[in-house]
Amino acid sequence: MAKIVFFCIPAHGHTNPTLGVVRELVSLGHEVLYYSYNMLKEKIENTGAKFVSCDDYDMEQKLSPEDGARLGKDLAFSTKILVDTTLALDDMVCSQIKELQPDCIVADSMAIWGKCVALKFGIPFISSTTTFAFNQHSAKIMKQSIGQIFGMIFSMGKIQKDIIRLQNKGYPINNVLDIIKNDDNTDTIVYTSPEFQPCSETFSDKYTFIGPSIRPITDEIVKTHKKLIYISMGTVINNNAGFYHNCIKAFADTDFQVIMSVGNLTDMTKFKNLPENIFVYQNVDQIAVLSKADVFISHCGMNSVNESLYYGVPLVMFPQTPEQGGVANRVSQLKAGIMLKKNTVKNIQNAVKSLIDDGEYRKNAISISDGFKKCSGVKGAVEKILNICKKN
Ligand code: UDP
Repeated sequence: MAKIVFFCIPAHGHTNPTLGVVRELVSLGHEVLYYSYNMLKEKIENTGAKFVSCDDYDMEQKLSPEDGARLGKDLAFSTKILVDTTLALDDMVCSQIKELQPDCIVADSMAIWGKCVALKFGIPFISSTTTFAFNQHSAKIMKQSIGQIFGMIFSMGKIQKDIIRLQNKGYPINNVLDIIKNDDNTDTIVYTSPEFQPCSETFSDKYTFIGPSIRPITDEIVKTHKKLIYISMGTVINNNAGFYHNCIKAFADTDFQVIMSVGNLTDMTKFKNLPENIFVYQNVDQIAVLSKADVFISHCGMNSVNESLYYGVPLVMFPQTPEQGGVANRVSQLKAGIMLKKNTVKNIQNAVKSLIDDGEYRKNAISISDGFKKCSGVKGAVEKILNICKKN
């Protein structure tokens, strides 16, 4: 039986897609150790994997709110935090991995400490990519990120000092691209379809597009009106009271049923005396809601978009970060959603009306869904991981 180690960053969106793969590996009798963060402990342990907490070494939690906001937006700064985290984790992770001698390491593309430790000990490595796979061709779809890449290149001098700190700890890393870039030789699992991934033909056959990983439905959703609108800004940047209140105004006392998930950071006491057709929760079974929804108003996190399109639900897109903007651009390109240019009541109403009146959007969403359903899924990912273990 194989010993497999997973690494991920503290984010539901990056962890959720891996859970089905881990569950399947465990059920086949393989040993899985998962380095992650306490906020994800329960989810990970439910798969049967052994959870190892990295919370004591989490550089992100030590950041000021201002610096926290720079993560994901300022690539140079984000890379520095990733390098700092790798160095903080070094002693604990390296001593355990040396003893464990895993057959393979699977790490999220942003959990660079997983890739670094694999390189340090010569352990076979697989990158797990929960966003679009990234190369110079697909980068064009992430338009806003190009500026960031330049920002990073200009600040490489600063980052190079951190690279030397990694080298001094025995990591065979020459430059920042070694850790943040996946090349054509890196085995990579991508949780979307080749049809939805921009420029998928430009990636080598080391890339396996397994399609989105859709959790089973746990809650029952009752459809009370003919059309159901679902609204969520995801689990990270979701404290956006102005937007939620505009959505309420846009659909109060209409023929739509509206289910809105506002996240744990939003003050629920602000949603009193709601119209009878509007339901606000901190968290919902998103898969259950999407299985019945007609429109999804979304921040365009990769998982939310994958889940929406899986159910053939077209999107009104309100991205908050360059990464989400890239996903939204792709959906626009395939005409499966409409970008919300400005957060106003009228714009929200018009975007929803256009999606419902023009059947083309739903048709395109269903066609992307057909592509998802043709992918190899969890089985494809497990097969790839076990093949890499065998080669060892
Ligand atoms: N999610 C959920 N219930 C909610 C809101 C979100 O189950 O009420 C899940 C959603 O199904 C998705 C994940 O949280 O799998 C959000 O990931 P995404 O990549 O869309 O956005 P992020 O939260 O990382 O910004």
